[in-house]
Amino acid sequence: MNYTPAIDRLERPLRDLRVSVTDRCNFRCVYCMPKDVFNKDYRFLPRAQLLSFEEIERVVHAAAELGVTKVRLTGGEPLVRRDLEVLISQIRAIPGISDISMTTNASLLTRDRARSLRDAGLQRLNVSLDAMDDETFMRVNDVDVSVRTVLDGIENAAMVNFDSIKINMVVKKDLNDHSILPMARFFHGTGHILRFIEFMDVGNSNAWDLSQVITSGQIAAMINAELPLRPVEANYRGEVAKRWEYLDGGGEIGIISSVSEPFCGDCSRARLSATGSLYTCLFATVGHDLRPALREGDADAVRGKLQALWNARADRYSETRTQTAVVHIRPKVEMSFIGG
Ligand code: SAM
Ligand code: SF4
Ligand code: SF4
Repeated sequence: MNYTPAIDRLERPLRDLRVSVTDRCNFRCVYCMPKDVFNKDYRFLPRAQLLSFEEIERVVHAAAELGVTKVRLTGGEPLVRRDLEVLISQIRAIPGISDISMTTNASLLTRDRARSLRDAGLQRLNVSLDAMDDETFMRVNDVDVSVRTVLDGIENAAMVNFDSIKINMVVKKDLNDHSILPMARFFHGTGHILRFIEFMDVGNSNAWDLSQVITSGQIAAMINAELPLRPVEANYRGEVAKRWEYLDGGGEIGIISSVSEPFCGDCSRARLSATGSLYTCLFATVGHDLRPALREGDADAVRGKLQALWNARADRYSETRTQTAVVHIRPKVEMSFIGG
């Protein structure tokens, strides 16, 4: 049956759903899950509070009926959730879902795991890597995982022919900005698209400050000076990364400027937390619990709730962050909880 696509108050359709399958992670990236907050006293969600795969499937099903075509699995670290392949094959069978991807730190991506994820129906992979040298990378992940471990994960993924493998680098001034060029050099010509992400004020734990942001303009200028670039048209409306290609044919890069050039006008993403709350913006202060609707057990209840939430949506945080000056006082949800 066809349902009316969900459209929000700013005329934006609902197209993407990011599903956080766990709030846990084997890394402690200093900008995301700093050890002074996420330590042994931190209370991660008890297993019983996580949505089951069957519940996630029902939310995705309802979302697909309202227009969602793309699903991204994220976390925390999605690969720490057991049997993820089962969930992927369940999502793959949902009519209307044409794209399933995952964002991962790739440290647990063995050859067998890459193969089983691919076989289950995972199409695209985004791997996070923030530096090319161990000293910097270990300072970022704070758990002594080497660059080689992640590169092995990327190679394992490449062996099983995902439709695309993108590499995401969050750039934070004085933490890893000296790695911009080494990263560009390394991935130039590999066929993997490297994407630079401006450091964002997600959550409340990362002590964000505008002065720590290296802007997309600065990143492009730095790379262009050594490896000349030209801008490329977006692939589709709402693409978050601005595309650039190397003049020498070495492929393309993307730059995600959520801080310096926000793109809320085209934002068609909703996020589902591991506990079943829907967030209509990455910077939301509150989520909307879908579990009561899930418990009612019928598809109409979940779809009706999603439709109502999306219809009421007017979020455009990134376009207003500097005007509102509430960056530090507004309580926001942590990125490791709702996913990137
Ligand atoms: N653990 C997985 C990973 O790191 O790829 C998936 C979850 S992680 C929260 C998703 C993405 O968000 C990662 O690429 C990470 O670098 C990015 N991220 C986390 N905190 C961020 C911040 N404050 N600003 C920009 N990106 C951030
Ligand atoms: Fe874990 Fe990803 Fe956050 Fe790093 S960015 S702490 S890998 S969830
Ligand atoms: Fe979308 Fe919110 Fe990010 Fe704007 S700030 S692009 S509305 S998630």
